[in-house]
Parts: sequence; C-alpha cells; structure tokens
Amino acid sequence: MPVFAQEGYVEVAEVCKVYRNGTREAVEAVSSLSFAVPRGQFVAVLGPSGCGKSTLLMMVGGLEPVTAGRITVDGTPMTGPRTSIGVMFQDATLLPWKSALDNVLFPIRVLKRPLDAYRETAQALLERVGLDGFEHKKPHELSGGMRQRVAICRALVYDPELLLMDEPFSALDAISRDEMNELLLDLWQQYTKTALFVTHSIREAVFLADRVLVMTRRPATIVEDLAVPFPRPRAVTIGETRQFNEICGHLRECIEGNRDRERTRRPKPDLVRRELVG
Ligand code: ADP
Repeated sequence: MPVFAQEGYVEVAEVCKVYRNGTREAVEAVSSLSFAVPRGQFVAVLGPSGCGKSTLLMMVGGLEPVTAGRITVDGTPMTGPRTSIGVMFQDATLLPWKSALDNVLFPIRVLKRPLDAYRETAQALLERVGLDGFEHKKPHELSGGMRQRVAICRALVYDPELLLMDEPFSALDAISRDEMNELLLDLWQQYTKTALFVTHSIREAVFLADRVLVMTRRPATIVEDLAVPFPRPRAVTIGETRQFNEICGHLRECIEGNRDRERTRRPKPDLVRRELVG
C-alpha cells in the first residue's frame, strides 16, 4: 500500500532517526515520520525545541543518514548532498576573509563551475536583496540581517529546486526579522522553489508558508498538518487579522500538547477546519 495519497517532490516515508554517540545512551530523535511535499509548496515545520526539526532538515538535505525509512527528492532516494538543494542555517556561516560577492559565489567555486558565468547572477541577487554597493564588503562590515541576505543569495545562486532553511532569521532582532520574512516571500514569488522552513515562531510559519507541519516532542512525529488559507502575495498586515491569530492560537495549542483538552472547551477556528477538511 502506498504511504502517500499525494505524490510529492519531497517524500518522507516512515523515517526514524536514532543518534548513537559511542557508548552514550542512544537518542531517538525522530520516530516514524511521514509526509509529502508537492513541487512548489512552501512548508513550515514547527515544534518544541529539541523535537528533531533540524535532524529532519539535515536528513532531507542528505547531510545526515536516516536510521530507518526512506526520503526521496524528485523521485530519487537521498544518499548525500545534492546541487539541486540549497541550505540556509541560523548562522549565516560566511567565510570571514571573503567579500559578500565571493561568499555568494563560493558554492560555484566548490562545484567547480565557471565563476564568470555566475558573477552576473550573484550581483543581481545581491541587488535584489538590497545589498547593491556592499558586494565588496567583508562579513564583519555587515549587520546580522545583511549577512543573512548574503546567505540567501548564496543558497539561490546555483538555482536549487529545493530550499531548506533552519531557523534562518531567529538570531535577528524583530524588525530585521520582519524585513527578512517579507524579502523571502518576495524572492519566493519570483523563484517559486519548493521549501522546507524550520522555525519556532508560529507567526513566522503562518506568514510564510502554504502549509504548516507541527512535530511533537522527541521522538518526533507529526501531530498537525495545516493548510494556510491566505492568498499570495501576502502583506505583513495579515498578521493583524482575526483569522491569522486564530490559526496561530490553534497551532500553539498543538505545540503545547493541549489540543485535546482545549478542543472540548474551544472549537478549532472555522477557517482552519474548512481548510483541513478540503
Ligand atoms: P530541534 O531542531 O527540534 O531543536 P534537533 O534535531 O537539533 O532538534 O535535535 C533532536 C534531538 O536529537 C535532541 O535531543 C538532540 O540533543 C539530539 N541530537 C541532535 N543531533 C545530535 C547528534 N549529532 N548526536 C546526538 N544527539 C543529537
């Protein structure tokens, strides 16, 4: 019997991950996790700290092997990193001795592709994220938000099909974070990649994603799979609407594990229920 009702560009099928470090006790980070992501969908992954979100992302990116189960991207099992996948982490992890432009071009150098063919793309991406004139600055001359903008350009420069992001804006102040969310949505509309975005911010997940998955505490499984009903393009003002706040409230209950208790007291928001049934 097939695991998925819907064929996915990314398919995670009954994946389990156990970390065994030497003689220390084994840690079961993820237990029997299954979901599929269609091509072009932006999926946010929420869950309590330590529940296995980063582990999931690393496994999808081929940076960490699964212990059991199977992950395929574009129909091929993940056995290692691929150039069709771009990754962004919480820290921009830029090379401190290289300029912004050279950092963006770094994956091209690693992939041994011709640098000159990508210089224009890299420059255009830097302009697109508002870093025109900063291309020759070193990371220490840039703010945290600017460094993350460089990291976005670096992840997009070789035009990956799938973008994996692990809390990329969590170290930024609230204003820079809002700016980065808007910028990411803008880029998303232009590049329409498939994305998996790990965050612990419920509002960020609802603002950015087409769909939000909620993971339980370790060993993680998925307790909620919610379609976000807001059309694109989205303005930051959707965060002030009642629907937005009801959805966030529902997701918070799921994360805190209070859903069953709360359900008897308070029904799910109408809008959320319609989306889930549809
Ligand atoms: P999250 O991203 O949700 O905060 P992680 O995926 O980082 O969670 O971690 C999930 C669990 O796996 C945690 O208990 C963490 O301590 C453990 N873990 C993560 N990486 C390793 C590792 N390399 N070795 C052993 N345990 C690990």
